[in-house]
Amino acid sequence: MKLLVTGGAGFIGSAVVRLAVSRGHAVVNLDALTYAACLDNVAPVADSPLYAFEQADIRDRAALDRIFAAHRPDAVLHLAAESHVDRSIDGPGAFVETNVNGTYHLLEAARAWWETQGRPEAFRFHHVSTDEVFGSLPADPEVKFTEETPYDPRSPYSASKAASDHLVRAWHETYGLPVLLTNCSNNYGPYHFPEKLIPVVILNALAGKELPIYGEGQNIRDWLYVEDHADALLTVLEKGRVGRSYNIGGENERTNLDLVRTLCGILDELRPKQSGAYADQIAFVADRPGHDARYAIDPARIRAELGWRPSVTVEQGLRRTVEWYLANEDWWRPLQAREGVGQRLGTGQKA
Ligand code: NAD
Repeated sequence: MKLLVTGGAGFIGSAVVRLAVSRGHAVVNLDALTYAACLDNVAPVADSPLYAFEQADIRDRAALDRIFAAHRPDAVLHLAAESHVDRSIDGPGAFVETNVNGTYHLLEAARAWWETQGRPEAFRFHHVSTDEVFGSLPADPEVKFTEETPYDPRSPYSASKAASDHLVRAWHETYGLPVLLTNCSNNYGPYHFPEKLIPVVILNALAGKELPIYGEGQNIRDWLYVEDHADALLTVLEKGRVGRSYNIGGENERTNLDLVRTLCGILDELRPKQSGAYADQIAFVADRPGHDARYAIDPARIRAELGWRPSVTVEQGLRRTVEWYLANEDWWRPLQAREGVGQRLGTGQKA
């Protein structure tokens, strides 16, 4: 298959690009290269004859039309987005622009391409979204997000993602575009941008800085290793039923405080401090406005229908992640210097 991956220079998109090329798919990586992008993320496949890069903005319809015509993709995997909740609170406009308007332009470009090709049944538009569109859950562990959970987004980020999900469904119902949707829980792993929770904790710990935790650290997130997410996305793309959505999660619920303590424990083992423990650096800070209490995914549909399961436990994935950051300072050090990065808390937000 020839895949057009949007946002392929970001955290999850680059994992999809690396995995897809390693499985023999041709991939066109379409990315505007915003502050959150890093082409080093795709360095492992950049020299492959299966890989091509197009710098373009998903709001630029003319560029999209040119790219569809030039590369003739069999499927679109749409991951390009503004993705950082704290940034969406400071400046929601960019989120509406890219996540809503950008998705609209991409849908229209994909529809035009699909129609000029005679509406091939095998074409897919796979929209990658978040569990945050469902809002916040109560503490009861029996209650989880299913594909039937009503939408209840509460931050500018999740509202913009919810709007994009609705557009994608509407393009299926109205125009017959063969779409797939996935809503995933918090991702973590290698190449995670250093303003997000897990890298912030690892890198602040190593720098001897405070490990900021919103409120009392009791917000619960459901963590999934990014390479397992990429595998789930390719599974849905290949085997998912058109028009359907699939929730993706690792059934790894942790409070933010537990998560940070686990990371500190791994660091104590792999890079011991001269005195004391990394957990001594934990500092509680004022909570984020509208901070969702709990997210948890029920992945029963993707398991039962498509046979997908995550390959690593959260303990294994966190250890791999810490090892990767310890070995890849050349990757994260320059990103930390980018404008605005590191000035946000990075704690408790979507990944
Ligand atoms: P990211 O911020 O790391 O990467 C986003 C990429 O999109 C960047 O490379 C950026 O340059 C590109 N981009 C942004 N605006 C663009 C535009 N207008 N045109 C073209 N490219 C543009 O994000 P991520 O964490 O990899 O998330 C990818 C997708 O997965 C998003 O749609 C996000 O909502 C969704 N998602 C993320 C998580 C998570 O935990 N990170 C969980 C579930 C779903």
